[in-house]
Amino acid sequence: MSEAATARGGSTAAAVAGAVSPRVVLEARHLRKVYRSHAGELVILSDVNFTLTEGEIAAIVAPSGAGKSTLLHLLAALDTPTNGTVYFSAKPLEVSDDAALASYRNRAVGFVWQRHHLLPDFSAAENVALPLLIRGERLDEALRRSHEWLAQVGLAERASHRAGELSGGEQRRVAIARALVTGPSLLQADEPTGDLDEQNAVAVFGLIERLHRAHRLTSLIATHNHALAARCDRVMGLEHGVLRPVGRREADWPGANPEGEAS
Ligand code: ADP
Ligand code: MG
Repeated sequence: MSEAATARGGSTAAAVAGAVSPRVVLEARHLRKVYRSHAGELVILSDVNFTLTEGEIAAIVAPSGAGKSTLLHLLAALDTPTNGTVYFSAKPLEVSDDAALASYRNRAVGFVWQRHHLLPDFSAAENVALPLLIRGERLDEALRRSHEWLAQVGLAERASHRAGELSGGEQRRVAIARALVTGPSLLQADEPTGDLDEQNAVAVFGLIERLHRAHRLTSLIATHNHALAARCDRVMGLEHGVLRPVGRREADWPGANPEGEAS
């Protein structure tokens, strides 16, 4: 069992409480992100509020440029908000010291970057082993776990291939293995099926769903693929810097354009 799963099972009181109402894993309160440049202020997120409860898989849908990556980076402590607070397991990230934040990034959250950020000249196995090496694990153990994870994402045969030589879909799978190799409880994926053809997008999304269930993750996926988002437990739309629940009908979603007008 992963460290995170062990930690989750550690408190009987928490387990009992969880049986009554699902535990809130991630919460954003009044998140605001403003970029300042010579051209003035750019308000990307104006007031984002939401909670993510243990075990759910939720989607954030919005067109390109709406602020999905900005929001996920704040939630993963890869960037800091202008105002507002992110809570992980009811603890505000802003009061965490550097070591606690590093631990949150490296152990609690598995992050799949929009531009997968693999090291092209390193093998798939080395790329997946990297987060374990960063947190001080031995090379042989890191590579053993890396191979295990490559098998889980269907790439056992590609372990020694250079990441730069893999197909787009295979690179996404390596990025997913790298995000999960550390045993996080929370998966955040930023357009994990972006720039894949439909067949690969469906396969990669199906893989995320399987891993989500198998490892009892709590998952948040930014996407502009409506059909895939609709498969999640819950869909939220990001529009004008605010996140709001949206229904399953594509026409209700931000960026949808039922009248066919230019947006
Ligand atoms: P999405 O992921 O939904 O496509 P992003 O979060 O990448 O959107 O970007 C939202 C907006 O914020 C875009 O207009 C983008 O140009 C702007 N932006 C992102 N990062 C920066 C930055 N570091 N400085 C200024 N503007 C930025
Ligand atoms: Mg983005």
